[in-house]
Amino acid sequence: MAPKEYALLCLENPLLDIQAQGNAALLEKYGLKPNDAILAEEKHKGIYEDLLNNYSAKLIAGGGAQNTARGAQYMLPPNSVVFLGGVGDDKYAAILHDAVKAAGLRVEYRVDKVQPTGRCGVVITDHNRSMCTDLGAANHYDLEHLKSPEVWKLVEGATHYFVGGYHLTVCPPAIQALAEEAAKNDKVFVFSLSAPFIPQFFKDPLDASAPYWDYVIGNETEALAYAESHGLETKDIKEIAKALAALPKKNTKRERVAIITQGTDPTIVSVGGKDVQVFEVHPIEKSLINDTTGAGDAFAAGFTAGLVAGESLARCIDQGQWLAKLSIQELGPSFPFPKQTY
Ligand code: ADP
Ligand code: MG
Ligand code: MG
Repeated sequence: MAPKEYALLCLENPLLDIQAQGNAALLEKYGLKPNDAILAEEKHKGIYEDLLNNYSAKLIAGGGAQNTARGAQYMLPPNSVVFLGGVGDDKYAAILHDAVKAAGLRVEYRVDKVQPTGRCGVVITDHNRSMCTDLGAANHYDLEHLKSPEVWKLVEGATHYFVGGYHLTVCPPAIQALAEEAAKNDKVFVFSLSAPFIPQFFKDPLDASAPYWDYVIGNETEALAYAESHGLETKDIKEIAKALAALPKKNTKRERVAIITQGTDPTIVSVGGKDVQVFEVHPIEKSLINDTTGAGDAFAAGFTAGLVAGESLARCIDQGQWLAKLSIQELGPSFPFPKQTY
C-alpha cells in the first residue's frame, strides 16, 4: 500500500554543519573530546570562523532529524516527508533550503528575523568526530509554529512522527503535543536519543516523552548514558534495550520497540522488554568509508521509511543498515546520486 502524502512528519533542529579535518591542537584549543556532541558555550563560539578560515571547512546540511528526514524521503515515494524546525533569515538558511529541495524534502521552518541559523562545528580526527552546536534560531522553535493552522494540518495528515532527542533542549511542549496526538490517534511515534548529554542533562523532559515512544532508537553510548542517569546498574546493552522497551507506555495498542545500534557491532532490538534480537550490520571495506557522520541518522531514516511503508521489523532494521552503509561512503550525512534502491 502506498503511504499517504506527507505520511512522515519530523521535528528537530535544522543546522548547517561546518565540517573539517582537525587535529589534537584544535580539539585542545576549544576543550573538545575527539568523539562527542555538545552545545556551544561562549568559549566555543570562535570555532566556526576558525574552521572556515583555517581548516578549509565544508558547509553541509545537517541536524540529526533533518538528516533522517532527507534519508527517509530518499527511500519513499515523492512528497512523503515533511520536516519542522527553526532557522534564521540568512545565507545559511538559503543553503539548507537548497539542500532539502535537492533531496525532495518539504520543510516548514519557523523563520526567526533576529537569530542566525544554527551551526554545528564538526571536527574530524582519524575516525572520530567531535560536534559542537550553536543552536541559534533553532533554539527559538515554538508551539505557536506547530499549532499554526497550516502546520497543524500536516501534523493531522501524517501517520508517523519522528522526533530527534536534541529538540528536548529546545521545545518540549512541541514534542509533547506530537506525542499526545500520536497516542490519541494510534499513530506511530519514533524517538531518537540523539546524544549522551540528552539522557544525562535533560532527564525530566526525556522521561515525560518516554511513555509515548513506540520506537526508541539510540547508539551504544546513548544507551549507556541512559542507564547511568536512570540508575539501571548495568552496562549490558541488551539489558538496557530491554529496560527501554519495558518502560510504561501510554498507547497500549502497540508494544514499544527499542533499537540500539553499535557502529560496526550488531544492532540490538527488544520488543516490549522481551528477549533481544540481534542484527548484524552490513559489512563494508574500510577503504570505502568516507565519513561516518550521521551513520545513526541514516540508520533511523532507512528504518523509519520501512515503518511508513508498512514493512516488517526485520526488514526495517535491514533498510536502516543498508542506508547507513550508503551514507558513510559519502561526505557528511548524505546519500548517493544517482539514487540506489534497496
Ligand atoms: P551513530 O552515528 O549514532 O553513532 P552508529 O555508529 O551506531 O550510530 O551507526 C549506526 C549504523 O550505521 C550501524 O548500526 C551500522 O548499520 C551503520 N554503520 C556505522 N558504521 C559502520 C561501518 N563502519 N560499517 C558498516 N556499517 C556501519
Ligand atoms: Mg557511532
Ligand atoms: Mg547518532
